[in-house]
Amino acid sequence: MVVAPSIRLFPPSFSSIPFPHRSPFSSRWRSPSSVSLLLPIHSRLQSTSANGDIGVELPGDQAEIIFMGTGTSEGIPRVSCLTNPLKKCPVCSKAAQPGNKNRRLNTSILVRHPGSSGTHNILIDAGKFFYHSALQWFPAFGIRTLDAVIITHSHADAIGGLDDLRDWTNNVQPHIPIYVAKRDFEVMKNTHYYLVDTSVITTGAAVSDLQFNIISEEPFSVHGLKITPLPVWHGKGYRSLGFRFGNICYISDVSDIPEETYPLLKDCEILILDALRPDRSSATHFGLPRALDEVRKIQPKRTLFTGMMHLMDHEEVNDYLTKLLESEGLDVQLSYDGLRIPITV
Ligand SMILES: [Zn+2]
Ligand SMILES: [Zn+2]
Repeated sequence: MVVAPSIRLFPPSFSSIPFPHRSPFSSRWRSPSSVSLLLPIHSRLQSTSANGDIGVELPGDQAEIIFMGTGTSEGIPRVSCLTNPLKKCPVCSKAAQPGNKNRRLNTSILVRHPGSSGTHNILIDAGKFFYHSALQWFPAFGIRTLDAVIITHSHADAIGGLDDLRDWTNNVQPHIPIYVAKRDFEVMKNTHYYLVDTSVITTGAAVSDLQFNIISEEPFSVHGLKITPLPVWHGKGYRSLGFRFGNICYISDVSDIPEETYPLLKDCEILILDALRPDRSSATHFGLPRALDEVRKIQPKRTLFTGMMHLMDHEEVNDYLTKLLESEGLDVQLSYDGLRIPITV
């Protein structure tokens, strides 16, 4: 029997969206965003981690972001650095120690959004190392369900973990909605063909049960949370999506921001932005100097960088960024795996 793949266009009609999609900066979205924005980031971060820091229990109705991964595709430490007989990579040597903040898996965040039917866990990207991220942080933070996955783009470090969602759909919940742009869904038809068209699966095989929702570059709603795509370039001619929810803007893979995207970043309170390496940009990612220039242009209240490679030493770069708070008033720091920040959306 041929079973039609579970696909539907999303949203089917903007008239069904319970907010004005052309007015993302209405007063509702301009309200103060973070409960902790009055403090500089350096003091706030002490209270947010289960990564060896002093943790703080957040109230059950508190929205939050958990950083599932903050590193490049190959992960930090690199195996090649640890096997190099010269052992000359200090960051990877540090990252090899459990709990070290230089230890980074593929970029991903979990948005925990309390609603009338409980807290929804909305994941942005499930890359190659998703299993390892979930293994580390889901039990630690008491996270059970995966209520939606939103995809930034179709590189392996963003979608490589979709197969691992089988553990949830076999043992926790019947299915998981996936929100993905059409171009990336077309890629998945090849990379994850058996998840897109379940008719090819041998009867009895228990793969992930995913419901694909095709998104455009217009706002959409996930479990009552308004999500605004932030289209960016991730290499010449290759599109990736950042996402805005409330006054939080998340852009994990970017080499250039089109002019038409800047208005969508207006009044951003917390910016989470790609910063690959300390010295320069690559063809596909912002380096730290360009990322800082964008922070000066976008003027968020607070910025956390993500997607760092092994040339970015957590303590050293953060020391440098701390000085920018004093000299320029820029509240900018590196994120790290397991970082947990309260938000208001
Ligand atoms: Zn290294
Ligand atoms: Zn990518």
